[in-house]
Amino acid sequence: MANSKFEYVKQFEQPDSLLPNTWIVVRLDGRGFTKFSTKYAFEKPNDKRALDLMNAAALAVMSELPDITIAYGVSDEYSFVFHKSCTLFERRASKLVSTIVSTFTAYYIHLWSTYFPSSPLSPPLPSFDGRAVTYPSVQNLRDYMSWRQVDCHINNLYNTTFWALIQRGGMDGTAAEQMLKGTFSADKNEILFSKFGINYNKEPEMFKKGSVIFRDYELVEPETGTGTKTIKGEEGGNSAVPEVKSKSQLEKEKKARTKAKIVVEHLDIIRDEFWERRPWLLS
Ligand code: ATP
Ligand code: ATP
Ligand code: MG
Ligand code: MG
Ligand code: MG
Ligand code: MG
Ligand code: MG
Repeated sequence: MANSKFEYVKQFEQPDSLLPNTWIVVRLDGRGFTKFSTKYAFEKPNDKRALDLMNAAALAVMSELPDITIAYGVSDEYSFVFHKSCTLFERRASKLVSTIVSTFTAYYIHLWSTYFPSSPLSPPLPSFDGRAVTYPSVQNLRDYMSWRQVDCHINNLYNTTFWALIQRGGMDGTAAEQMLKGTFSADKNEILFSKFGINYNKEPEMFKKGSVIFRDYELVEPETGTGTKTIKGEEGGNSAVPEVKSKSQLEKEKKARTKAKIVVEHLDIIRDEFWERRPWLLS
């Protein structure tokens, strides 16, 4: 690049590379989707087309960025996890976040007509915000994923009951809200079943659990013994020193990741089983 007297302004840029050897989570969220979902008449509480579109856009992001290990989505949000050894964009937060958010948004708009063929988009167009958070341990990362999935469950049980009271029970929003005030999960299950014959457990898995996207390799059979459990990927010993992989090893792994099939599932990611059967995710 040519030198000029203006070049000093480059120095105003602040470094923003994320702490090394930590799991990076980039979470995006739809801007003003309460309004957006009304504009395009999303079915309440869960519009399957809108969730399928979120999943398709996230799948495209995962295919374009092989450094992403796993992603989890619910409602208008998606979390993308980068392995703690990831060095993409020198781990610069703004580069990582802006690339993910713009790639996701581009695909969301590109794929819109596939999922909503009879409602063409018009301004204001859908947009997403994003942030990056680092987690120093596998336990913290798994707790993050659990947090999002618990949130999905709590919101979905509430919304399913709320909208049943309105759509099937003829209540208005205020009355439904009043009825649900202070209720526990068991109460909501009971309202759904006794008033509307809805067994919450039989609701679609995508609504209850959200969506998890990952690269699929061979499953590892769960151990049947009762030995003490250790969380995979949490090395013992001197864990302050990151494991150093050779360049050719990293290249090989990247190639394998690029070729692997990416799947969208609706599984429990809170319990150990999901992670124990897929040890490559956290190792
Ligand atoms: P913000 O810009 O602060 O995120 P928001 O209106 O997007 O504001 P959120 O908390 O992100 O607020 O909530 C997302 C909204 O989008 C909720 O009202 C939710 O009901 C709606 N929504 C998202 N996905 C769907 C879907 N698949 N079906 C029906 N409604 C949806
Ligand atoms: P990075 O991902 O690091 O930004 P890059 O390849 O995008 O990599 P830039 O420094 O952003 O690198 O440079 C942008 C490139 O795109 C340059 O090679 C430039 O010549 C080319 N380019 C951008 N806009 C135009 C245009 N309108 N016409 C021709 N070439 C263009
Ligand atoms: Mg440029
Ligand atoms: Mg938000
Ligand atoms: Mg939102
Ligand atoms: Mg949201
Ligand atoms: Mg460029």
